[in-house]
Amino acid sequence: MRAVLLGPPGAGKGTQAARLAERFGIPAISTGDIFRANVKGGTELGRAAQEYMSAGALVPDEVTNAMVRDRLAQDDARKGFLLDGYPRNPDQGVELDTMLSDLGVRLDAAIEITADIDEVTKRLLKRAQIEGREDDTEPVIRKRLEIYATSTAPLTAYFEGRGLLVQVDGMGDVDDVTARLIAAVDSE
Ligand code: AMP
Repeated sequence: MRAVLLGPPGAGKGTQAARLAERFGIPAISTGDIFRANVKGGTELGRAAQEYMSAGALVPDEVTNAMVRDRLAQDDARKGFLLDGYPRNPDQGVELDTMLSDLGVRLDAAIEITADIDEVTKRLLKRAQIEGREDDTEPVIRKRLEIYATSTAPLTAYFEGRGLLVQVDGMGDVDDVTARLIAAVDSE
């Protein structure tokens, strides 16, 4: 399976991506996790990404696209992958198509985890206390949700137009959401 996971910050993409990846035996590739590891490790990529991340802004497409292209070319992604947090705007969506066609493969599904905005804001503020992510403060959360609405949400229509969109309700119990996702993917 080759799929992307869409949905607002706080919808549970990271948690669900890890579960689905295990279920299907493919890597979950989270661009946010890769950026955070690079910031922590003080790499050049981390330095390029840090200021955007702490402001809740998108890291520039050239930087992000190059990183994803490298990651998808790795051996473990050959059988399939689940992208979490990429693409994040329509240009990245087009770039992903180019990457996949260069690899001679196609996307099977774009799975959107839908969630209520008040609920995701609450979840993110709670996560801030647990994980201490520096972009989980109220003003930065507001900015990330705004970017989701303006830049990322339009991707839903892009994938829908190509017959790839699958929408799954992300509200409620985590296990129930996982079950809904597996059922949706299996019926594809
Ligand atoms: P996430 O863990 O997916 O919430 O991502 C955390 C942060 O990493 C985002 O707020 C962005 O600053 C950056 N980021 C992650 N994925 C992307 C992407 N596809 N394009 C640009 N920036 C990204």
